[in-house]
Amino acid sequence: MNYQTSTPAESGTPLSTDATHPTDTTWMNDSSPAGPRTGRLIVLTGPAGVGKGTVEAKLRADHPEIWLSVSATTRAPRPGEVDGVNYHFVTEEEFLAEERSGRFLETAVVHGMAHYGTPLQPVLDHLDAHVPTILEIDLQGARRVKERAAELGMEVVTVFLAPPSFDELVRRLVGRGTETEEQRNRRLETARVELAAESEFDVVIVNDDVDRAAGELWSVIAREYGIKA
Ligand code: 5GP
Repeated sequence: MNYQTSTPAESGTPLSTDATHPTDTTWMNDSSPAGPRTGRLIVLTGPAGVGKGTVEAKLRADHPEIWLSVSATTRAPRPGEVDGVNYHFVTEEEFLAEERSGRFLETAVVHGMAHYGTPLQPVLDHLDAHVPTILEIDLQGARRVKERAAELGMEVVTVFLAPPSFDELVRRLVGRGTETEEQRNRRLETARVELAAESEFDVVIVNDDVDRAAGELWSVIAREYGIKA
């Protein structure tokens, strides 16, 4: 499985910077991944149902120079989702083989159902090219990236997207009304635990309004990459 769908130059505009780019790239392969990297990895995380995907879509619509990592997943594609664009849709066997060979930055089983993972090499390539690079992943994955940052020579900024209130998160989560009482209670419990994680992350953005939240996220990225916002 080749996760490299586009080169950094195709997928985002390298920004002019006075940071020095390492010329020796041998450390980029899987066996010697130690840094230092020039760009900072932005990790967008938050509770299920908070609207990470919507905020991220608005951000990228406004700032196409941002590169969003394409995750691998074992879940089935939803109508309209395109392999290699929304996700790399893989079998469990393929996923586990990639995981064993160390090709993921992080992996997690989300909702106890499907495997999700961030392919490592494209992230390193985009950071090295100084393309603003963002992951949109769950809380377990964000914790894992923080743990591995030093080992990989990456600087990471974790952004927690929070709902305006617990009640609002509940409303978004159970709004569809299709779940059983047991599923509903499990989701509420998960929401409670996930909201309590807020303090673990570097920046908190409240998703009270998608445009405003996306603007705030852009300010974080612009600051980290030395772009005039
Ligand atoms: P969905 O299946 O609805 O697209 O995503 C479900 C959840 O998985 C979302 O919270 C999303 O942020 C998270 N997710 C997507 N890709 C990854 C990944 O590569 N790693 C981790 N840890 N979570 C991911």
